[in-house]
Amino acid sequence: MIQSQNPYTGEVIEEFKEYTKPQINEAIENADKRFKSWKKTSFKERENHLKNVAKELNKNKEEYARDISLEMGKPIIQAVSEIEKCAWVCEYYAENAEAQLAVKKIDTDGSRSYVRYEPIGVVLAVMPWNYPFWQVFRFAAPALMAGNIGILKHASNVMRSANNIQKVFQRAGLPEHCFQNLVIGSSKIEAIIKDPRIKAVTLTGSKPAGAAVAGTAGSEIKKSVLELGGSNALVVFKDANLDETVATCVPARFQNTGQSCIAGKRLIIHESIAEEFTNKFVKEVIALKSGDPFNEDTFIGPMARKDLAEELEKQINESVKKGAKILIGGNRKDAYLEPTVVTGVTKDMSMFREETFGPAIGITTFKTTEEAIELVNDSEFGLGVSIFTQDMSFAEDIIPEFEDGAVFVNELLKSDPRLPFGGTKTSGYGRELSVDGIREFVNKKTVYFK
Ligand code: NDP
Repeated sequence: MIQSQNPYTGEVIEEFKEYTKPQINEAIENADKRFKSWKKTSFKERENHLKNVAKELNKNKEEYARDISLEMGKPIIQAVSEIEKCAWVCEYYAENAEAQLAVKKIDTDGSRSYVRYEPIGVVLAVMPWNYPFWQVFRFAAPALMAGNIGILKHASNVMRSANNIQKVFQRAGLPEHCFQNLVIGSSKIEAIIKDPRIKAVTLTGSKPAGAAVAGTAGSEIKKSVLELGGSNALVVFKDANLDETVATCVPARFQNTGQSCIAGKRLIIHESIAEEFTNKFVKEVIALKSGDPFNEDTFIGPMARKDLAEELEKQINESVKKGAKILIGGNRKDAYLEPTVVTGVTKDMSMFREETFGPAIGITTFKTTEEAIELVNDSEFGLGVSIFTQDMSFAEDIIPEFEDGAVFVNELLKSDPRLPFGGTKTSGYGRELSVDGIREFVNKKTVYFK
């Protein structure tokens, strides 16, 4: 049985019977059959379907948000915003997919030559619990608009949301089996990737999960896209507007109770402003309201699982043992960890070297721009970096120095359907969203007429 447990109360809210092998086979068979007709639908038909999905999400957003809050403790206001963002990505691809996948003419010595972007078939999505709807929809919207079929293996702790996502597509009137959720644990994934009816796989989650999935896909010569962890730096240069920077860095780290791949996890501050900045930052963190995810004024909820909170607590304690100092927070009760700010973090500490996936941030100072860049790049991850400065030409000059997949200036890193999203190094490969995302799972077919 797969269990959903409320991390705020500890109560088991639902149990799900794992699919048997014949049930999995039937789901894949149905998906494969559906592909044969779905790939022939026009962009206009798919657009209408995706617009209905967006309407359904907006219409019943409170219902879907409630189960997200119950299953993984996300404060309800943030859960509702997540559903609204899913509606946005559906509308975005409904309106833009046709142009993004239009035939591309190329002049050659032939009488005609061009590239067509054709769907490839059934794509498996292995997804995490931190944004139970958003992570899935940012895959599903472009995949369906491209003419592909989606099969979901969601994180085991958010199976109710996974079933709700399937319900969204059903309620919106999408043809049956365009999108199905498989109620399974991760041990079933290898066989599914190896099934010839599965053409590709996308995974969002940790490095070990990504390595396992990509390894199997690689052995079968199947395409994979990986969106793994991050340890984004928030770099505050000495000319930054401190009040505005604090107002951006606090949600950059603490929204979604810090459980986001793109959260700012390493605060890297110029030493001349470090004290003033830290005082302002700590004051804002103290003001964040922790509590019941169902209270509308709660900003920090429990973490999604107790083991995740224990892991973060361990990273904090290990850093403290090596000389870091806790300014606020540091205490844990079950799945709840107080918003924590730690100063004096150095490169050898867990809070710098590892991904910290929760409401805790480490502060490191720098003297020179070169040192700041070196600190940012000294990470196995490469998802993104935020830099804070009032000098835009300085910002432009240093952007090429960063090894990450994204640089945001005076802004927290966020995913936006219009912009490509993805990382370098162990943050993964491939891109989601924008034109780059929809072209990941298509056959770029070259056509040439003599
Ligand atoms: P996992 O990476 O273990 O889970 C993500 C998804 O991968 C789930 O659907 C999970 O299924 C599946 N999975 C896990 N192991 C394998 C495997 N060997 N083969 C195939 N699929 C697998 O995340 P955790 O929940 O354990 O979180 C641990 C850490 O991962 C976090 O602390 C954070 O660092 C990172 N993470 C990053 C996310 C991101 O947005 N990039 C999101 C979530 C976590 P199942 O639940 O059944 O195990």
